[in-house]
Amino acid sequence: MSRMKKGNGLLRFLVVAALFALVLTGCNGARKYEAVDLSSETAAGAEMFGNGADLAAESTDTGASGSGDADVQALGEAAGEPLSADPEGGDVASESSELAEAASESEELSSEMSEAESVEAAREAAAAAYTAAASDDAETAPEIPFNGHTVAIDAGHQAKANTSKEPIGPSSTTMKAKMPEGAVGTSSGVPEYEVTLTVAKKLEKELINRGYHVVMIRTSHDVNMSSAERSVAANKSGADILIRLHAGSMDNSSVYGALSTCMTAQNPYNASLHDKSYNLSKKIVDTVCGTTGTKNRGVQETDSSSDINWCEIPVCVFEMGFLSNPDEDTWLQDDGYQGKIASGIAGAVDAYFAEGN
Ligand SMILES: [Zn+2]
Repeated sequence: MSRMKKGNGLLRFLVVAALFALVLTGCNGARKYEAVDLSSETAAGAEMFGNGADLAAESTDTGASGSGDADVQALGEAAGEPLSADPEGGDVASESSELAEAASESEELSSEMSEAESVEAAREAAAAAYTAAASDDAETAPEIPFNGHTVAIDAGHQAKANTSKEPIGPSSTTMKAKMPEGAVGTSSGVPEYEVTLTVAKKLEKELINRGYHVVMIRTSHDVNMSSAERSVAANKSGADILIRLHAGSMDNSSVYGALSTCMTAQNPYNASLHDKSYNLSKKIVDTVCGTTGTKNRGVQETDSSSDINWCEIPVCVFEMGFLSNPDEDTWLQDDGYQGKIASGIAGAVDAYFAEGN
């Protein structure tokens, strides 16, 4: 009996805690993709609470106190059962009624066990969803006001290279592969397209935390977008600047360090963007080398890059390091090091816009 009661007490607590978490989650307003992804990965129990969260949000909006059937039932059981069970404690009951009670209780127990399990699963899912929503809020802090600047981030390369050709700039007759295969970490074996997207996502969060709007040119590896197409997407996005992340590779494995690339001041397609692009590029390489401690290889100017020539907004192609250098490859795979790259770039972006650009 007392174990049953404890079980009921725990169940009550779990249900109340889960509902509380739900209301909090529902009150957060716009649901973030992280929370949605998380709930879609959880089992059947979470399904109920996924719906419950919507209902809770709706009832908050409309002021109604009603909730889903499942919620009402769970509340009723949690509140009602112990009250009727308590006065029937075993002292005065006859053996036969105790047996009957025990039999019916064991039925209840088994039904409650599975219910408790699903409630427990749902509670965990709700708590996880709430934590995800809360931490997402903390990271993206929707209360941070828009600072007026939008940054496009292109994570270089993609899972499958596209070797068909495109002009290196508008109306150019010089052709290059639409999307060349990237480098591969010499010691990690990690492909460049993975490193670039990992850092791009960290940079996205870092910039959102600072009040920027961010346009991600790609968010998955499974895309087929050429250099020119990515530039055009950035041009049309309303972004003020474009940052393209890459990691280099050289035959000489001793070469390491970061470098930025932009157009020359005589670029036939977008020379007018040179000064701002150079300024941004220099700030990025300088700041990141400060935060990470890697070698500063400066800014390189070129007019043969289709990553640059199609751009109609200031652009920096940032080579974060060399995957062909065993040490730098190892650094580039490190979560903390990637964070330093992201915060370094974000600091440079702050400094760039602080100058009135
Ligand atoms: Zn690359």
